[in-house]
Amino acid sequence: QPITTDMATLTQEVKKFARDKKLEIETLKIREEYRREFLGNVSHELKTPLFTVQGYLLTLLDGAMDDKNIRKKYLQRAEKGVERLIYIVKDLDMITKLETGDINIERSEFNVVELIQNVFDLLEMRAAKKDITLTFDVKYKHAIKVSGDQEKIQQVITNLVMNSIKYGKQGGTTEVSIEDLVNNKVIIRVTDNGEGIENSHIPRLFERFYRVDKSGARSEGGSGLGLAIVKHIIESHEEKIYVESQFGVGSEFSFTLEKAK
Ligand code: ADP
Repeated sequence: QPITTDMATLTQEVKKFARDKKLEIETLKIREEYRREFLGNVSHELKTPLFTVQGYLLTLLDGAMDDKNIRKKYLQRAEKGVERLIYIVKDLDMITKLETGDINIERSEFNVVELIQNVFDLLEMRAAKKDITLTFDVKYKHAIKVSGDQEKIQQVITNLVMNSIKYGKQGGTTEVSIEDLVNNKVIIRVTDNGEGIENSHIPRLFERFYRVDKSGARSEGGSGLGLAIVKHIIESHEEKIYVESQFGVGSEFSFTLEKAK
């Protein structure tokens, strides 16, 4: 290439170079801020269960070990703390993979009615602890074949039903329903009559680590990643997710899926 001698062109090129560099630096800055915030959130989430486990172990070492009943109770609580840590780490792994695009949607055709039944079977015990009834409302109980990543859609339904139990009232109900839409789609709704969500929280609900109750003191606390994972999975299927909620009345989370051809 000939060397540019034209001063105006040269100035323009220098300016463009400076603009590109500035943009590059801005992008790096945003990424760095995002990374720092993510790490901050991760350590915050891990701290509570770690301190819980340490607390029980220290109390045991301090002498609680000698009492047979207390020993068992404290070891069980410590184990619960470890279980929670495992859930958090699994969710972190999942959200990282989803956000970096390190995960593929493996489409197949499957019966979504069966999938919902699987989720109910898995969560029945948890629901029973709060005397919550899991019901399935579908006009036709026969197979409804959809197209999607079966494992990930099961995770979506699991997270939504799990939340309806966690934030549901003692003795409440969770209902899952399926309805046909136009354009060869179905909509799956998970409805509860639990504590509901105040309007002001709705726009941020699907952000990772976002929680309505920030105290972290509640026993039901998850990783704060459940809905972020749900949103990612649904959007990577190019489908839509919706939420409607009334504080004190209940919530409804719904998402669309493509019917199998
Ligand atoms: P978490 O691990 O805290 O459950 P999620 O991402 O699954 O994280 O949910 C984010 C927040 O949204 C929860 O902390 C809770 O405040 C609120 N939330 C989610 N589902 C429901 C529901 N069915 N009823 C009421 N609040 C809900």
